[in-house]
Amino acid sequence: MSKSLQAIRGMNDILPEQTPLWRYFEGTVARLLDNYGYKQIRMPIVEFTELFKRSIGEVTDIVEKEMYTFEDRNGDSLTLRPEGTAACVRAVLEHGITGGGQVQKLWYIGPMFRHERPQKGRYRQFHQIGLEVFNLDGPDIDAELITMTWRLWGELGIRDAVKLELNSLGTSESRGRYREALVEYLSAHHDKLDEDSQRRLKSNPLRVLDTKNADTQAVLVDAPKMADYLDDESRAHFEGLKARLDAVGIPYVLNPKLVRGLDYYSKTVFEWVTDKLGAQGTVCAGGRYDGLVEQMGGKPTTGVGFAMGIERLVLMLETLEQIPEEISRQVDVYLCAFGEEAELAGLALAERVRDQLPNLRLQVNAGAGSFKSQFKKADKSGALYALILGDDEMAQQVVGFKPLRGQGEQQSIAWDALAAHLATCVVQG
Ligand code: ATP
Ligand code: MG
Repeated sequence: MSKSLQAIRGMNDILPEQTPLWRYFEGTVARLLDNYGYKQIRMPIVEFTELFKRSIGEVTDIVEKEMYTFEDRNGDSLTLRPEGTAACVRAVLEHGITGGGQVQKLWYIGPMFRHERPQKGRYRQFHQIGLEVFNLDGPDIDAELITMTWRLWGELGIRDAVKLELNSLGTSESRGRYREALVEYLSAHHDKLDEDSQRRLKSNPLRVLDTKNADTQAVLVDAPKMADYLDDESRAHFEGLKARLDAVGIPYVLNPKLVRGLDYYSKTVFEWVTDKLGAQGTVCAGGRYDGLVEQMGGKPTTGVGFAMGIERLVLMLETLEQIPEEISRQVDVYLCAFGEEAELAGLALAERVRDQLPNLRLQVNAGAGSFKSQFKKADKSGALYALILGDDEMAQQVVGFKPLRGQGEQQSIAWDALAAHLATCVVQG
């Protein structure tokens, strides 16, 4: 195919054979969030570039090299959103819905865009479900976010394959003191650091902590630890969070090197990681960002949130074969009709059944065809039952009812009794 007619590298079609699993995943998360009292918000996909520079931070990978930025026809610099928090904060501020300490528990779903090197689990258009809570500053809500994701992993059957990593970055004051100590230490070992880390030492020194470079990692072994610089408030907050996770029985590992890629985090940061996906092991990540709203021009408003990568979690369901059987079957009943008269009667009958059983997945054969070809289509559809309308059935005003999977003989059901009969044999979603 000519290049111009192909999808952009790193931007994927999600094909019909894949969408049932996506919808199952998204539906499971949406139901969970509803049940915990979170409300959905929908933001635009494009925002002013300035929004992301201000919120994410100028010296982050995202802003430095991953954004899809372009000029609008009227000369404004716009960017396809690389993440959801910035737009969500912009929206709550613009509409004043966090003013006066109003609590908001919000979630969103949709595509995000980052110009990264495409590989398994890493794409240029990818999808997140994210969540943000405003004006709740205690460890109880941090614990709720983590508990909710823990429940989700349980429902999806992947709990044993993920691990919770936890850290506290403290308040901006204690982080400032820590940063100084870290810079002093790393500067003394400047020559042993990799090039990237030398650069980060100047621009964003905490990011040196999550380097992948072995030599730099060796230097970091004796580096000052954030935990020793935590202020009392952050320490109490972190202890409060851990006590709650212990109370629910959620295991975690403390990872002092967990700093997250974005500038805006404070206090709690966490990641759910797996070793089932190769290098792209983080499936859900988040933390507290108490200073962000103010930094973006709002009144002091605390915030905490996370985002999970849908592609990675869908990949995990596939890898661990946690795909519920019922999602692969999309048709309950398939109606075959032979001849024009039967087709007309079949259509009317199907609509009457749909009136009575709105959740029944009833597919009516289209394109006519012989008995053999319609039957083949019925079978291929995955339906549990075929309904048959031929000359004999028309004469008697009945429909042939034939189980397609497993035992049972074909029987005749009167048209008027069909919906009631189907209700007894098909479990409807
Ligand atoms: P990573 O370290 O893998 O680059 P990140 O720290 O940049 O992740 P976040 O900005 O925290 O990621 O986004 C939250 C989640 O979104 C990640 O944990 C991951 O599951 C998913 N995600 C991030 N970037 C991508 C991508 N390019 N392709 C697919 N999923 C992604
Ligand atoms: Mg990244």
